[in-house]
Amino acid sequence: MTNRIWASRDQMGGLLSGRKSRRRFLGTTVAAGIGGLLALSGPLAPLSGLAFAAEEPAGMKPDDALKVLMDGNARFVATKATYPNQTAERRTTVAGGQHPIAVVLSCSDSRVPPELVFDQGLGDIFTVRVAGNVADDAVIASIEYAVEHLGPTLVMVLGHEKCGAVAATLDALKSGGEVPGHLSALVDPIRPAAIQANSQPGDALDLAVIGNVGNVVAQLKASEPVIGEMFGQERIKIVGGRYDLDTGEVAIVA
Ligand SMILES: [Zn+2]
Repeated sequence: MTNRIWASRDQMGGLLSGRKSRRRFLGTTVAAGIGGLLALSGPLAPLSGLAFAAEEPAGMKPDDALKVLMDGNARFVATKATYPNQTAERRTTVAGGQHPIAVVLSCSDSRVPPELVFDQGLGDIFTVRVAGNVADDAVIASIEYAVEHLGPTLVMVLGHEKCGAVAATLDALKSGGEVPGHLSALVDPIRPAAIQANSQPGDALDLAVIGNVGNVVAQLKASEPVIGEMFGQERIKIVGGRYDLDTGEVAIVA
């Protein structure tokens, strides 16, 4: 006897099994089906409930998704955060599937956690964090997976005031020497923004932070095949933000 289980691709690690359909159809045996059932829903789930359908993506328009984030940031700035979607009920809901409204590529800096900065909760933001918010292949693959399979319509690259990775790049330019350890993996992609900032009047660090955000936004818009294609079809919007450590405010800069 064969039962069929619908499973969202993110639940079942469907990332590697083709890229066109949002869901995949699994034919499996009763034993395997029950095993999957127990894994997903616990031992008390009724056997009649073998069909799993995660909540569908909200299909939010990119500008609406941006408004949700910026409204959340305004609450955070005003210390009027509502800490949405952090209940046990929400946890249970998103255990069945995730449909974040946005992807945020931010710096790893401990002072810039996207969920707090935008006053969001579980399942709301697909977050990719790396020092200097640079986009290497692993970062781009993470974003590709999210926009293609999870339904967010907004991608934000979020840099911040006094970014250490950007400061290290400016220092490396000044000294002209080799950077220690693996730091070149961050310094090399930030270098063009740092060089540009050094040629302009004003605060070089802040200019380089904003320039780097702009460069990564441009890189993602041109990233083929997935992200650039979806951007070209206006299925996703890609923007850049700068976070102010002092005020907590995110300004759109790209
Ligand atoms: Zn940083």
